[in-house]
Amino acid sequence: METNLVRLVYYSHNRLSDADHAAGVDIEAILAASRRNNAEVQVTGALMFNSGFFAQVLEGPEPAVAATFERIQQDPRHGDVNVLSFGPVASRAFSNWSMALVGGAVSDRRYQGMAGESGFDPAALSGDRVFGILRDLLTEDSVAVA
Ligand code: FAD
Repeated sequence: METNLVRLVYYSHNRLSDADHAAGVDIEAILAASRRNNAEVQVTGALMFNSGFFAQVLEGPEPAVAATFERIQQDPRHGDVNVLSFGPVASRAFSNWSMALVGGAVSDRRYQGMAGESGFDPAALSGDRVFGILRDLLTEDSVAVA
């Protein structure tokens, strides 16, 4: 059993342009960097986005999650980063994913993607609720980035 595990849930405001979304390139770049970096430091999690928001769960050893989140916060591709919850957990919920994109393939999730259609608004939700949504959607339909 792993010790010193933490889980962080945040949402942020999407600063990607329509053109970025239409190309799907930036989401792919974010996922590629996440896959590369998270795997090295045993961070796992899930990400979803729509035209307005990102919501992400990061889990792993506390120093690795903190360092990863510090980098993420500086990223100009989003802004107004709000932590919804942060704290110790007994086990991982996303142990098979260095970063899962919840809800479908990048190509299916352009600007009018699943999250947009569902009216997903993480600003109105608690950390537990956002975590639950990501976890539940992941089991239904996701792109695993192991
Ligand atoms: P590279 O990916 O090679 O990027 C080099 C630098 O250029 C970085 O500073 C990067 O921020 C910047 N950059 C790259 N592309 C763009 C662009 N299109 N516009 C502006 N600046 C750009 N990283 C993780 O490691 N793990 C995660 O789980 C993770 N989740 C993220 C979630 C969201 C919503 C966002 C927006 C970013 C996320 N990132 C994540 C990316 C993170 O913010 C850093 O960009 C990344 O960790 C830097 O990786 P790197 O050092 O390999 O640099």
